[in-house]
Amino acid sequence: MSGKKKFKLGFAEWVRSRSIWMIHYCSACGAIELPPNMMAPLDAERWGIMPAPSPRQADVLVIMGYVTKKTLKVLMRLYHQMPEPRYVMVGCNCPATGGLYWDSYSTVKAVDEFLPVDVWVPGCMPRAEDWLQGFLKLRKKISEGRIVNPRPVEEPGELEELIYREIEMREKMMAKVRG
Ligand code: SF4
Repeated sequence: MSGKKKFKLGFAEWVRSRSIWMIHYCSACGAIELPPNMMAPLDAERWGIMPAPSPRQADVLVIMGYVTKKTLKVLMRLYHQMPEPRYVMVGCNCPATGGLYWDSYSTVKAVDEFLPVDVWVPGCMPRAEDWLQGFLKLRKKISEGRIVNPRPVEEPGELEELIYREIEMREKMMAKVRG
């Protein structure tokens, strides 16, 4: 195995990776291209990927598009309602960098400041095939045991404090841009 990192393949991880139920939160425009994954020809269900009826039955929280500060509170609550082990997949450029809304007063610039993101699906907007690639990447990471669970995450109750941190970050960023 020269040069290649070897991961431990456990039975539990293998089984988990073959049945990924998602709770998908359509926070913005980036959500439009995910539904085609649930039908022909992509048909993500053949990989065990399908929507869950509630966060209590979900393995992965899928966030699609920019996240406002109010939405963040809901997302954190959903994440806390999910059983361990749980994963997070985020699509679009906006929740990673601010994207088109980088100077907006109401959006969060980096979702991974608040939730542990396992897979990013970049794009504006990501195409259906990109979402599928994201799911397959998550599947691989789970089956190789590369995602450690449980992970420490702030409680949604501490959100005000988190939002102040976000505002502080944003102000620093704006000051840098303005010189
Ligand atoms: S990256 Fe583009 S498609 Fe996605 S939320 Fe931002 S503006 Fe919308």
